[in-house]
Amino acid sequence: SLLTPKESVQDALCDVHTLYHENQVKLNKKLSKLVQRTFFRIFKVDLSKECPFWPDDGQCALRDCSVCACSEDEVPVLWRLGGNQETSSFLFKSSVATCESSGGRDVLNDVDRNLGDAQFHKWREEDEDVWIIEDSDDSMIYVDLIANPERYTGYQGVSATRVWRAIYNENCFLFADSCADQEVCSLQQHHCKEQRVFYRLISGIHTSINMHIAKEYLFKTRWGPNVKLYQERVRQFPERVENLYFAFAVILRAISKAMPLLLPEVYDYRTGNVTEDEITSQVLRDVFSCSKLLTPNCLTFDERELFRAPEGIFVQKQFKEHFRNISRIMDCVGCEKCRLWGKLQFLGIGTALKILFDEPLLSLQHNEVSSLLNVLHRLSTSVMTVAYMERLLLFQRIRE
Ligand code: FAD
Repeated sequence: SLLTPKESVQDALCDVHTLYHENQVKLNKKLSKLVQRTFFRIFKVDLSKECPFWPDDGQCALRDCSVCACSEDEVPVLWRLGGNQETSSFLFKSSVATCESSGGRDVLNDVDRNLGDAQFHKWREEDEDVWIIEDSDDSMIYVDLIANPERYTGYQGVSATRVWRAIYNENCFLFADSCADQEVCSLQQHHCKEQRVFYRLISGIHTSINMHIAKEYLFKTRWGPNVKLYQERVRQFPERVENLYFAFAVILRAISKAMPLLLPEVYDYRTGNVTEDEITSQVLRDVFSCSKLLTPNCLTFDERELFRAPEGIFVQKQFKEHFRNISRIMDCVGCEKCRLWGKLQFLGIGTALKILFDEPLLSLQHNEVSSLLNVLHRLSTSVMTVAYMERLLLFQRIRE
């Protein structure tokens, strides 16, 4: 079972079966190879930024929340020297542990402290025309994504709930007459397509995060799939699975639109290691050519249906502003590893939105390209994991 209520994915153009089949048979395997390559696995990020909206939740001290930073020799020479759009000013050592030393932190479990609901400040007055607030170079570190996998960390309770609530609150738009007269904060059928798209992107990522938690869950001392968690958080809400497919369809469309810029002959994927760079180019070509999902004639999502006249510009401005706020909310995630993956995935979505809606698209930074392909891999794996969980459930039922 693909566990979707209908054949089609609302607002997307590809049907579920095509998305599922092409992913299962072709795309996921190639993407899994791609994210192992240095360009995509070494990610530059600031995990120490202060939360701009409420007082510090207390950095999560759960062992599985810690992130290990790369040591100097793990970072490609070219990047260290400032080539490949990189600057040489970054930190190798910070408060974040290195891989060798990160294993033994104590479990303090202070994330559930109830700090009350602090005033939620929005920074609406800033006049920046970007989808995501970038981290500043001086406090960024390099992290190996393969050494810090997205999986169960134990982060939950007040801190996590508050972050998700703040993210979903960004789905509150002010529409012009033709859609609705006032601020619309709940999700009902008649609402504007833009608001639905915004919500479904967030919900799709949320589903994906839950699928990764369910896939690699820690049962006391053993890691394994948690079918019950999948049932409770995802399965019983079929629209969440549909939203996962929707987010997948949007990212696919963005990549196929930006393909001329992303080809290895055009974009600078160099790390300084010739063999490694040749493999990366080859794997990229494999990814781009393996499935019809990444060709322009399989339009998985049609961005031209959004922000149409007459109030299009007004809605798009809000859409961008709200998404930018989400990138700030990521600095409030009180668990390093969740923050890492949250920042990466929302940067990936923001990059997709930039590709789809910024005209002209001027350039893409290294981190934007990396997060775009990484978030595609996350979503692609989550689509596979839904089917895997369904198989586990079926076996369970047969055994009973
Ligand atoms: P939550 O997942 O916290 O959800 C809050 C509420 O949102 C739910 O009650 C439900 O009503 C609603 N909801 C849930 N799913 C959806 C959906 N798909 N669409 C719409 N509404 C939904 N934990 C880890 O173990 N590993 C991680 O890598 C990780 N990464 C995270 C990244 C971010 C950015 C955030 C904010 C949290 C992360 N967490 C991670 C925590 C995790 O997402 C949950 O918050 C936590 O597991 C507690 O789950 P919960 O069941 O209380 O509901």
